[in-house]
Amino acid sequence: MTVRGSVLLCLAAVIALLLPWRVADAAHLELDVALDPSQRTVSGTALLKFSEAERPMFALAADAIVERATVGSRPVRFDRTVADGRAFFRVPPDVQGRNISVVYRLTLAPLDLARDHRSVLEALPAMADEQGSFLPSGSGWYPEPQTDFSYAVSVSVPGAQRAIVPGRLTSESTREGVYRARFQFDQPAAGIDLMAGPFVVRERQTRIGDRDVRLRTYFAPDLGDTLSDDYLSAVDRYLRLYSAWIGPYPYDEFSVVSGPLPTGFGMPTLTYLGAQVIRLPFIRDTSLGHEVLHNWWGNGVYPDYARGNWAEGLTTFMADYAYKEQAGESAAREMRHGWLRDHAALPAGQDRPLTAFTSRTHSASAAVGYGKAAMLFYMVREQIGAEAFDRAIRTFYRDHLFKRASWADLEAAFSKEFSQPLGPVFNAWITRTGAPHVAIASAVAKPEPTGRGWNLRLLLSQGTPAYPLTVPVAVTTATGQEVLRVPLSTARDAATIRVTDQPLAVVVDPDFQLWRELDAVEAPPIVREAIAAHDPVIVNLEGSPDFGRAAEAVGKALLEQPARMTSALPADAPVAVLVGTPARLEPVLAKYHLGARPEEVRGRGTAQVWTVRKEQQTVLVISARDADSLAALARALPHLGSQSWAVFEGPRPIARGVWRAEAVRVPVRLSGENGPMHPALILREGLSWSSAA
Ligand SMILES: [Zn+2]
Repeated sequence: MTVRGSVLLCLAAVIALLLPWRVADAAHLELDVALDPSQRTVSGTALLKFSEAERPMFALAADAIVERATVGSRPVRFDRTVADGRAFFRVPPDVQGRNISVVYRLTLAPLDLARDHRSVLEALPAMADEQGSFLPSGSGWYPEPQTDFSYAVSVSVPGAQRAIVPGRLTSESTREGVYRARFQFDQPAAGIDLMAGPFVVRERQTRIGDRDVRLRTYFAPDLGDTLSDDYLSAVDRYLRLYSAWIGPYPYDEFSVVSGPLPTGFGMPTLTYLGAQVIRLPFIRDTSLGHEVLHNWWGNGVYPDYARGNWAEGLTTFMADYAYKEQAGESAAREMRHGWLRDHAALPAGQDRPLTAFTSRTHSASAAVGYGKAAMLFYMVREQIGAEAFDRAIRTFYRDHLFKRASWADLEAAFSKEFSQPLGPVFNAWITRTGAPHVAIASAVAKPEPTGRGWNLRLLLSQGTPAYPLTVPVAVTTATGQEVLRVPLSTARDAATIRVTDQPLAVVVDPDFQLWRELDAVEAPPIVREAIAAHDPVIVNLEGSPDFGRAAEAVGKALLEQPARMTSALPADAPVAVLVGTPARLEPVLAKYHLGARPEEVRGRGTAQVWTVRKEQQTVLVISARDADSLAALARALPHLGSQSWAVFEGPRPIARGVWRAEAVRVPVRLSGENGPMHPALILREGLSWSSAA
């Protein structure tokens, strides 16, 4: 496997941002287009019907040729303005009529396979090629209403090409070497993405609840039957899971479409995945379920983007995280720890409140929009119980399907099931940045006068402004461990808890069940710190131009901000990437006191990557055999943000892991023992999980 983790991006979220969302004014589009991938041309006719509410307007690529445009049946000279490569056509104010017909053609951009996973997050142009075409919404490949609209699209492609847009397939045929398919989408949509390629189409009909659902794969021929079968079965399984858990699947189809770009997008009724992504065995078990679930959250109930996108967090919680819970508590705990660690890796000032999250564009938005939001749903479920949580989810879905909903609507649904207002809880977590720093300032035990059990007095603190918390506290006694929950809603508070056996030590939130600031020992350095660095520095130890170019290329692929190139490690840089061959690195590691090459990576692969934290500085060390071995890291290393170290054989990571985290363990004093506790008494103890290789 070459990449892991967050390879999938959610276009569902991105599309909706492009346009204002005015469901009440939904327009309708009838589109009939021919796509010729070898010539890179699109031509066709669009019929747009607008409601009475506003002046009709549509957008089309600025270089498209409009052969005829009429209102009613009368040719009209539209008011035309150009912005960001698109032309906006408005019906002149003196012209009556709500029905517009446009005959047009345009030439598309060639396929750009050099795009990496980050650049496909940005707005893509419509690209055509015989090995795969992708015409995204908002790129101007068809006359696009500037309000929501329902649509019917007929598309034809030549030869072995097949094409698909989101929606219900109402007819398809192949005549005289031309494939033609018609799709209908009755809900208000913000735009249409068209995908085409030399697909082999495989289909399975299934019945989910009282609905017949058509499952399809549109795969490049070399992906094969077995993989297609596996995907159809996995999609079937996810549709059943979420229909039973949330409510009926809101569409009649689901398709998995392969493409040549190294990424994945979720859209209503389908997911579009790079062929190399489809081949990765773990995608079916994780990201596919996430994309299927977006048909409930995102493309079923629409987030109110202006007030914050909750759909990524809820999808992450009910897909990625739910699968970890199925795998076991230690996997689930590791994911929660990962969310907190990713947040801890953000440079100062990068954090944003959840109300400001719209879609993933960089590490900071992902840490908040996915991790923090998922943790909020976890904390709400802990507070109100799983049954009440699921009832609230079902009611929320039923009441808001095909409508826009906000965090406030979710909060109302949970509050109703809990029979108590959860407003303060939601407000604290969605409107603020940062996280509480929860600590135990002192722990004092006293035996019960009766001789049965012990009273343990804890002084807890969390800083200001205070969050409404229920803090899990693990108490180690002479005979074992008990986890108790202690309410804390002020900056500092004392609580007395009863334990059966003599308490010896306490640990705050040992299983990462709270959104909180990790202590430095709980957050080992990870690659993400370099990725998200505000002002990164690349220290290149080699003199050869090849090596320098490779170092720059890896830096460009890995880092979100442009890096300064230097040859010596600046002491004041919070994050630096140190790059060299093993021979050059050894003396430099010693010179800067960065420790020896870790055992986990020593003597393995063609390149080794590891993180070192030294006081206030995090150094990402990249040791490569030669320039080629270094350049080979550009594709996969950016996907290893949550790791502390990795070993590569060419472009392929063959081992990876996270440095062992430690818990902050506070010893319990016996009542009457002397003095305030000295910080040196805070012992550090390894937590019991291993770094995954
Ligand atoms: Zn998503």
